[in-house]
Order: sequence, then structure tokens, then C-alpha cells
Amino acid sequence: MTTCSVLRCPETPASVFKLMPGSNLEVPVCTGHKGVLEGGAHWMVHGGTSVPPENDAQESTGISLLMGADLPDRNRLIGFGVSPTIGDELGFAVELNIDAPNGQQRVAFWMTGCR
Ligand SMILES: [Zn+2]
Repeated sequence: MTTCSVLRCPETPASVFKLMPGSNLEVPVCTGHKGVLEGGAHWMVHGGTSVPPENDAQESTGISLLMGADLPDRNRLIGFGVSPTIGDELGFAVELNIDAPNGQQRVAFWMTGCR
């Protein structure tokens, strides 16, 4: 069963939130969280790291959004880049720039199945 992509939110998603304006990279969210997210609340992506799709039992993207009290004080997301797939495979290469205690870190991961 699909639930809202915000961590631990049990609501049924009634809408989607675009991770990147202008892209089709979306995650399902409930009505309440969509309003909060589009209102400019802080959020960060959790998960989605190199899990093969067949092992991903939760949802198609494998991504959760951390918000509010779940956000760490550090390691905030300060940049975000998405590259559409080159070639035959469907998916996105996602690159995150994170403000970590020991300096800026770059995390890259791969998402498949997003259309
Ligand atoms: Zn929600």
C-alpha cells in the first residue's frame, strides 16, 4: 500500500510533490503535507540509495521525505541536481549537496521507475 512519502505519515497520498520544479520526479504525499511542502518548509530526501527495485517493498521511488522534528540539525540539504537518464534505462541520476559537519559532501544515487 502506498502512503504519504513524508516519514511515518500514514495518510493516503492524494497528490504528488515535485522534488524538482520542471521535472517529472515526484513523490506521493497527502493533502496536508503537500500544502506544507509547497509553502516552503524544510525537507530532505531519505533513502532511495541503490536499492534494487525488486527489493523495494515500500513504494516505487523508495524515497521518504524528512520534515520537522525528523530533520537533523546538521547535514542539511543545500543543493540538489537531477539528470535524466541517458540511454535506454528509465531513471534519474540524483546528486545532493549536503552541508555536513566536516564540510560539504556530495551524495549521488540512482532512481529508477520514475516517469
Ligand atoms: Zn503526509
